[in-house]
Amino acid sequence: MPKLVYADNAATARVLPQVLEAMLPYFGEEYANPSSLYPFAYKAKNAVEAAREKVAALLGATAREIYFTSCGSEADNWAIKGAVLASKKEKKHIITTAIEHHAVLHTCQYLEKKGVEVTYLGVDETGVISLDELKAAIRPETVLISVMFANNEIGSIQPIKEIGAIAREHGILFHTDAVQAAGHIPIDVAEMNIDLLALSGHKFGAPKGIGAMYIRKGVLIDPLIHGGGHERGRRAGTENVPYTVGLGVAAEIAMEKMPGEMERLSKLRDRLIEGALKLPYTFLTGPQENRLPGLASFCIEGIEGEALLLNLYNAGVCASSGSACSSGDLDPSHVLLAIGLPHHVAHGSLRLSLGEVNTEEDVDHILEALPQVVSKLRSMSPVWENGKPMWHLED
Ligand code: PLP
Repeated sequence: MPKLVYADNAATARVLPQVLEAMLPYFGEEYANPSSLYPFAYKAKNAVEAAREKVAALLGATAREIYFTSCGSEADNWAIKGAVLASKKEKKHIITTAIEHHAVLHTCQYLEKKGVEVTYLGVDETGVISLDELKAAIRPETVLISVMFANNEIGSIQPIKEIGAIAREHGILFHTDAVQAAGHIPIDVAEMNIDLLALSGHKFGAPKGIGAMYIRKGVLIDPLIHGGGHERGRRAGTENVPYTVGLGVAAEIAMEKMPGEMERLSKLRDRLIEGALKLPYTFLTGPQENRLPGLASFCIEGIEGEALLLNLYNAGVCASSGSACSSGDLDPSHVLLAIGLPHHVAHGSLRLSLGEVNTEEDVDHILEALPQVVSKLRSMSPVWENGKPMWHLED
């Protein structure tokens, strides 16, 4: 079988073998409902609580501040809708950014239809918000500031601690979508003044379909899912024991491996960036520094992202163009438009996201495949003429 390099770890990562192994007993002999009172259920209950401790440790939180959810999207929805519903303010206003994941953007747009006002902060050309603009957007009726920790398309990392300090100073709740950050870069909810944080297991070695929310002690938000008294009455639904156990083990491994993986992946990423930028009319999207360790993102002029992905796959590389969750969507990515790229350039985006599965050889393979694919596509492109794009970015 020809080599296939998986460079789409920001879309999802493989389940770590140790995670799978730890989960298996809870599909089998340990199938009890953790809420049951008899001793047969103790092992399941203890396993869920041990996982809570491990997720808390990853974030610098206490176990009582961690609530399990079905995914990152649920945690984002819960944080935002829950904060708005719990607010006693007559008029309600949210501040968020133009580059959020759709789990946040679509939730805010939904709330706008219900009468909530939303400010979408712009970002600079590297994908970072301005703290002055954030301060200027605050109103007496602002109930929530929601700013993502790290962007899923261009890897930019926001000044979370400073944003949290501004929110705290004004008595406004601060939520961060940390789905791309958790398990990859250090997070300390106390030091960073975070009130609400969403994470997702499948981005760092747990299965798809498990997430968690950090709710700072004392913060009151309404539940999203009503029902039984699970998760201390704040999120109903019989606990998904195997997946929760898996999330705990993934959090534990992430914590242990983080310093080494950050260094290793940053080196691979930088080599990938250096190699890809040798292609003419190709540039990096997102910041040069202070970006997610495994994430390299580009715009390649004169070609279409869709065609690039298909041809890269034929050359043995799994990559993505824009957000994983919106691939199949033909509109250019809202993130690339927000950093100021024109439509025709944004269409040629490429995201290569490296993770624990990737090696030096993988980077070599990508750097060999990419120029061949790009030159083939450019030779067929109607917007490529005499070795350059018909509309260059700087024209
Ligand atoms: N937020 C960000 C930044 C993401 O990248 C994703 C998934 O790609 C989500 C939220 C949604 O997470 P989940 O797939 O667990 O619902």
